[in-house]
Amino acid sequence: MSSHWLSLEEALTKALDAAKAIADTEQVSTFDANNRVLAQDVIAHIDVPPWNNSAMDGYAINVEDLKDDCSPRLEVQGVITAGMKADEPLQKGKAFKIMTGAPMPANANAVVMVENTSSENGAVLINKVPRLQENIRKKANDIACGDTLISKGTRLHAEHLMLLSSQGSSTVEVFRKLRVGVVATGSELAAPGETREATQIFESNRVGVSSILQNENVELIDFGIVADDEASLRALFVEASERVDVMVSSGGVSVGDADYVKDIIAELGAIDFWKVAVKPGKPFALGQINNALFCGLPGNPVSSFVTAKLLVVPIIKKMQGESKVHEPFLVNASITTSLKRRAGRRDFQRATMVKNAQGGWDVTPFKTQSSGVMTSITSANCLMIVHENVSELKKGDTVQVMPLHF
Ligand code: AMP
Ligand code: MG
Repeated sequence: MSSHWLSLEEALTKALDAAKAIADTEQVSTFDANNRVLAQDVIAHIDVPPWNNSAMDGYAINVEDLKDDCSPRLEVQGVITAGMKADEPLQKGKAFKIMTGAPMPANANAVVMVENTSSENGAVLINKVPRLQENIRKKANDIACGDTLISKGTRLHAEHLMLLSSQGSSTVEVFRKLRVGVVATGSELAAPGETREATQIFESNRVGVSSILQNENVELIDFGIVADDEASLRALFVEASERVDVMVSSGGVSVGDADYVKDIIAELGAIDFWKVAVKPGKPFALGQINNALFCGLPGNPVSSFVTAKLLVVPIIKKMQGESKVHEPFLVNASITTSLKRRAGRRDFQRATMVKNAQGGWDVTPFKTQSSGVMTSITSANCLMIVHENVSELKKGDTVQVMPLHF
């Protein structure tokens, strides 16, 4: 059990090392595959487009027919709309009227857009001669058979699912959903919606952590609230270790008298407990019981919110099989106030970012940064990062911010 302070990067490296990707896969409809992780490379088995086709509504012609003619007039041989095919090749001196997406007729080598023509009873006047191959979308120009279209480990979104559809696939092989358990520990906690004893507070971390993890499309199992009682915690952790891939608890990981979480994980499995040099945050327990990974977040709501985003989300993404574990999205901003603080921990200050006249961002941290103040996260639209070695910032200095919802 290491007791020295880890930087966020060190903690992330250790956490991602412990987080092993699940192996089980399943076949799901593309309509249910948004935000799931692809379990095998998708290889193209048909060309897209499957044939040369017109990129415009216009006339398919052969540019050879227009040579040396200053006002070309071509007889219209027929009409080709999308979904049909010309049953004969283009004849010399003629044009096929053609619609966007329709297959090019044989012998045609360009399309004149309709705007550059005028029609004249059964014939067409070409007002602007196209270049050879102009307005033709070539067979396999987008996708050729054998191309790797999407790599294993990609989180699927609309664009990937459209690509799969264009290959004729209605299903896709993805990693099974990660089963994630969530529990709040603390004898002082009452569930919202239930009655509260005079000495209790309403619990808020489960819904927060659950919402953050729902964005990652996990299968959530709510283990409710458990009191700071060794026997109850032990029983719950044993049960959880048999049902989940990852268990996320909040509370009970500090050094208080009733902080049993890390001891019980150590007793039933193995534990690594870190002090991470972030603020809010600090205590973070990572352990293993049977095949389940345990993440112990601090109980303080602001700290559990920040550590869930900074540490649990990357762990989850890795375990879901995502090959690219995204760095948080950070933006540069100019701070609107000056600030002094004790250096040492990386601070994620609750702040408001607004667009400035130059098109960049201005950021204003809240005056109250106590991690016990819940309203600081609801009023914030970003976390402003103050690096561990910085003790002073001057108005106008550039800082990095992590937008919360954009
Ligand atoms: P702990 O990490 O258990 O020492 O808790 C730190 C502080 O956070 C204490 O004031 C707890 O009452 C509070 N707390 C712990 N868990 C929750 C929770 N799920 N919801 C709201 N407050 C909590
Ligand atoms: Mg507690």
